[in-house]
Amino acid sequence: MAMSCDHPDLLPLDEAIARLWKALPAPPAAEVRADRDDPAADLAAMDGVALRSEEGRTPRRLLGTLYAGDDPAAFTVAPGTAVRIMTGAALPSGADAILPVEQLREAGGAIHPLDDPRPGDHVRRRGGQAHAGDLLLPAGQPLNVARTALRAWVGQPVPPPSRIRVAVASTGDELVADPAPHQIRDSNGPMLAALAHALGAEVQRRPALPDDPKALAAALRNPGGARILLTSGGVSMGEHDHLPQVLKDLGATVLFHKIRLKPGKPMLAAQLGDLLVLALPGNPVSAYLNALLFLPVALAKLEGRALPDPWRRARLAAPVKHKGDRPLLHPCRLADGQLHPLPGKGSADLVTLAQADAFAWIEAPGEESGVKVRYLTVV
Ligand code: AMP
Ligand code: MG
Repeated sequence: MAMSCDHPDLLPLDEAIARLWKALPAPPAAEVRADRDDPAADLAAMDGVALRSEEGRTPRRLLGTLYAGDDPAAFTVAPGTAVRIMTGAALPSGADAILPVEQLREAGGAIHPLDDPRPGDHVRRRGGQAHAGDLLLPAGQPLNVARTALRAWVGQPVPPPSRIRVAVASTGDELVADPAPHQIRDSNGPMLAALAHALGAEVQRRPALPDDPKALAAALRNPGGARILLTSGGVSMGEHDHLPQVLKDLGATVLFHKIRLKPGKPMLAAQLGDLLVLALPGNPVSAYLNALLFLPVALAKLEGRALPDPWRRARLAAPVKHKGDRPLLHPCRLADGQLHPLPGKGSADLVTLAQADAFAWIEAPGEESGVKVRYLTVV
């Protein structure tokens, strides 16, 4: 079998991802320590009455009510008394248990326990979760929603959530709104804007750029406040593929150019000052897959989250033909938990992309069937 001969020095995908991850800064993640005991007082864990458990089922006279946030010093539970109490309210002195509303009867300003309360029943003890000064999260832990809550809980400043601005600009002289047969519409622009939006970015669509080094340089020099610029087209070997040279001339730091992947080989990532440029190939399937692989990584790092792992695993229901020496991402339908390969026609095949549910990773040449492979879900 004849094998196409790719560059042997192409960067493997996982290494390209690791490079991008390493190159981008993460916001500082300070350690989280309890600023006080948690809970800071004995709290009711249920709605009911606070009482002295040693008095068993004897009726108690109700002194009043404590709501969450009330100062419990308003009451002292002396023998023969109880205080109505709501979840989250601090226990009044004298009380050592909560009897839930479901376990009592109320009549004539008194409550009659239907059960025997035991000391500590339904009480969240002061310091039961943490003591003041305890280390709750070490420094450098990636941020997630729960950890954001914990930071707020201990009084650390938590800035309001903000979205990372991602600009999207297609390149290519062939892109027009009303195409003659030798021209095409720009599908990458709307596709990449939709993807960035779905990933939680603030998206800025730019007009398509011509295959002109001066126009490309001007656009790169004026990112309009974007932190990430997604371009498509102009990074391959064609005579009009000016982006790599333009980036070089502007003094950009190229993180990688060309990766070991089919489709999606020409992918380029570079840093131009504070701007991350993800220069995607023009072919729709390549642009889509490269963006799906790299944009979530960049957003996660810049937002301080953990490195995302987009891969799942499933069995291939039918063989996928694969020549060549790059790992192949092949379009599939997902049914019955299995990957059903579609007759994909390559990197320009937007029709199959739109019909696919997933892309299966075919690592080595040959045919595979019944094997479990990793795959990406289509967004
Ligand atoms: P390029 O990477 O610029 O060589 O483009 C590769 C192929 O993708 C060419 O056939 C282009 O016409 C096509 N292409 C480039 N940009 C777009 C776009 N924005 N939307 C759809 N197809 C595109
Ligand atoms: Mg082009």
